[in-house]
Amino acid sequence: MLRPSLVSSRSTAIRKMATSASIRPFDPKTQSASKLWPASVTKPPKVGTTRVFFNADSVTALSSLGPDFAKKKGATKREVVRRSVGSAVKEITRVADEVTEVVVDATVDPHAAALYNFTLKTDPPSAFNPNLKEPIPEKVTLKPLDASVEWDRGVVYAKAQNLARTLMEFPANMMTPTVFCQRVQAEFAGIQNAQIFVRDEAWAAEKGMRTFLSVARGTPEPAKFLEIHYKGASTENARPLVLVGKGVTFDTGGISLKPAADMKLMRGDMGGAAAVVSAALAIAQLKLPINVVVLTPLTENMPSGTATKPGDIFYAMNGKTVEVDNTDAEGRLILSDAIYYGSTEFDAHTLIDVATLTGAMDIAFGEVFTGVFSSSDALWERLNAAGETEYDRLWRMPLDEDYGPQIYGSNADLQNTGGKPGGGCTAALFLKAFVHGLEEGESEKGLAWAHIDIAGTMEATRPTAYLGRGMTGSSVRALVEYARRLAEQ
Ligand SMILES: [Zn+2]
Repeated sequence: MLRPSLVSSRSTAIRKMATSASIRPFDPKTQSASKLWPASVTKPPKVGTTRVFFNADSVTALSSLGPDFAKKKGATKREVVRRSVGSAVKEITRVADEVTEVVVDATVDPHAAALYNFTLKTDPPSAFNPNLKEPIPEKVTLKPLDASVEWDRGVVYAKAQNLARTLMEFPANMMTPTVFCQRVQAEFAGIQNAQIFVRDEAWAAEKGMRTFLSVARGTPEPAKFLEIHYKGASTENARPLVLVGKGVTFDTGGISLKPAADMKLMRGDMGGAAAVVSAALAIAQLKLPINVVVLTPLTENMPSGTATKPGDIFYAMNGKTVEVDNTDAEGRLILSDAIYYGSTEFDAHTLIDVATLTGAMDIAFGEVFTGVFSSSDALWERLNAAGETEYDRLWRMPLDEDYGPQIYGSNADLQNTGGKPGGGCTAALFLKAFVHGLEEGESEKGLAWAHIDIAGTMEATRPTAYLGRGMTGSSVRALVEYARRLAEQ
């Protein structure tokens, strides 16, 4: 039992014993809470406020669910529990660093990626060191008080999000297109029903992916086109969900060079690719009964004597001409061929692309919401419901032909920039020109498409209860939840 009289964060004599801790999220207004934390009833602490109790052989953290917990419902309630537990985990690791196991007494799942801190510092040794012979075990393991399917599923979601964060965090010299493919192959080792194909530039050239390859012209680093085929559906030929992710492993802007300040953030410009491969891994681990194809065009975008120049025009895979007005708008160039390939090759029912595409998204939403453009109300509604459940929040943006004049006015069919106004909207409209068989509205036969622009949410500059600073793995949990619901239909 808990003995509040032993409350102390500094009583090392007692703390030496305890390597196990437990977390009890509590509603501060309830009777049982009042005995342990009397003041909590009169002045209920806000969500995540944590008190750690040290006993002879255990550590217990009480973490507040906030003053209005009883009134919360659905997705909001789940998020409050996530924040409360996330804060308590952080507090335990802060004040009780000998703890190696944390038991969580929560009736909801932990679909959140707490306890993640990317570092390549050498002392103490980093688990992220790419040259490790043996993996370093996690310092703290989280366990549920009562085992449940929901908990296990939550762990899969959280690990997938953390994988995306890791892929994004790695500096570009350690996460080239080649290394990205190797890492994904290693992550999928032993996974059932999944096949991985790593295509090279010659393959892309044969397919006619000229806009994709136009971005790769400036770098000696070989471009790759990674494909994952997951066949979980009971019939092998069931129409798949196709996920496309932008994989620019470093974006200098090319000849239209970016300013130096904060350019290192562009090591994460493969965040879309990271999100879709990580989501696919979770989908395969959960053995969801659906078919999924993942496509990620991967390249660096560098300036050099062979780089694409502003004004160059390329014939895209679908035969349309594209003028490169600004070489820094390269994401849509690599996506256009990947989207066309994805929408012609696999008889997909749905195609979703994810990309760190436009700074306009950051201006519109900051780090809070991710912008979604979709031709289908039904697809948008399903994505939005999944994002709400996971608190991986989405906001629908206009996909409208009235933005067309901004990108249709050059010597080519399309121009890869449309000026500042509605920058996210013109980018989405550009991509739409490469979706084959697009069905607007409801249809059995056509293809539903959504474009998710994570440029604003790719990085957290301030920590939240369960997400530290740094790359976020934005939209991974929403995608996995979307797929899980799709599988239940
Ligand atoms: Zn760019």
